[in-house]
Amino acid sequence: MIYLDYHATTLCDPRVVEAMLPYFGVSFGNPSSTIHEAGQNALSAVDTARQQVADLIGARPGAIIFTAGATESNNLAILGLALGTQAGYHLGVNTQPKRRRIVTTAIEHKSVLGPCHALEQEGYEVVTLPVRSDGRVDLEAARGAIADGTLLVAVQAANNEIGTIQPIAEIAEMAHAKGALILCDAAQAVGKIPVDVEAWDVDLLSISAHKMYGPKGVGALYIRGGAYGLPIKPLMYGGGQERELRPGTLNVPGIVGFGAACALSTELMLVEAKRVSSLRDSLEKILIAALPHVRRNGALDNRLPGNSSITFPELDAEALIANLPNIAVSTGSACTSGAPEPSHVLTAIGLDRQDAYSTVRIGIGRFTTESEIALTTKAIVEAAERLTRIQALV
Ligand code: PMP
Repeated sequence: MIYLDYHATTLCDPRVVEAMLPYFGVSFGNPSSTIHEAGQNALSAVDTARQQVADLIGARPGAIIFTAGATESNNLAILGLALGTQAGYHLGVNTQPKRRRIVTTAIEHKSVLGPCHALEQEGYEVVTLPVRSDGRVDLEAARGAIADGTLLVAVQAANNEIGTIQPIAEIAEMAHAKGALILCDAAQAVGKIPVDVEAWDVDLLSISAHKMYGPKGVGALYIRGGAYGLPIKPLMYGGGQERELRPGTLNVPGIVGFGAACALSTELMLVEAKRVSSLRDSLEKILIAALPHVRRNGALDNRLPGNSSITFPELDAEALIANLPNIAVSTGSACTSGAPEPSHVLTAIGLDRQDAYSTVRIGIGRFTTESEIALTTKAIVEAAERLTRIQALV
């Protein structure tokens, strides 16, 4: 199989797997049980991983809270902030409970839209910003929406379907000018493009290990100033791990793997981005030459190196994919595949239902080879031509 669905998930890099293995076996200790050496070793491995994650995003290690992935990080940030500010004070600090507006965008992942929607039902006002046809947030609309009384602005760094990269630093500046906080869902961006929490000036940032060659089920929430830096309350209670914000015995092998994946990305990112984007560009060039009516979605100059979202007008994307039996590509995002509704991202950038159903997402990554791209383009062109011929007959 040729795997070209790197937005859905990535292979866990063999070097990451190797780094994790001892923590299933000889180094199996609980990092909270530091009375003995087994626990101390586990804690030291978690500390190293925390530093590796922090280094990749320009943060201090104390600002990293390990979670089970970006879904949990987004929920903890949004719901935890609402809980932490409702009472009007948190750890003795006035938290301005009158702030009841949340500004987000139409193309966020459901793990951002879902908790925003839940808060809307609790009486918060949620403003969903439109995006332009290239998928970038309309900054004028953002300026208008981020009014006094805004608690949080939640904008993703890069989109999981069309790869569009958002101007986070500019949006952060707007948020801070009104005293609001900014959450950046960087699940698709971290490890692929430079992410720097200081340069972007974000307050909260979500990361997922399995999108960047680490294991599934582990991620992090960056919190400016650490667990006590912002008025965020936990969503769960238990053993007080992660400075009481995310209790539960730490997933040591997962965290070690996440750290190793971050260290690898720190080392490989720039060269890898160049190689991956050149594979993507050659794939698109061949497809456009052979099928001139195809269209690319998203901001072509501001997108993830490995992303290609292509609309094949008049063709059904599912039928096209069914004609590519050995190639793993996707229609919408993994989380929405199989749902009867067209992708909310594609409709938000102005595609009609028909075009949304004619769109294929291709994700290229670390292990993609030139010959795989050559085989894929050939297979797609042949399948598209075959389907077009069949459609002309019926
Ligand atoms: N945000 C974005 C932009 C994503 O692409 C994803 C994964 N599809 C998530 C959040 C959720 O990440 P996780 O799988 O780690 O929960």
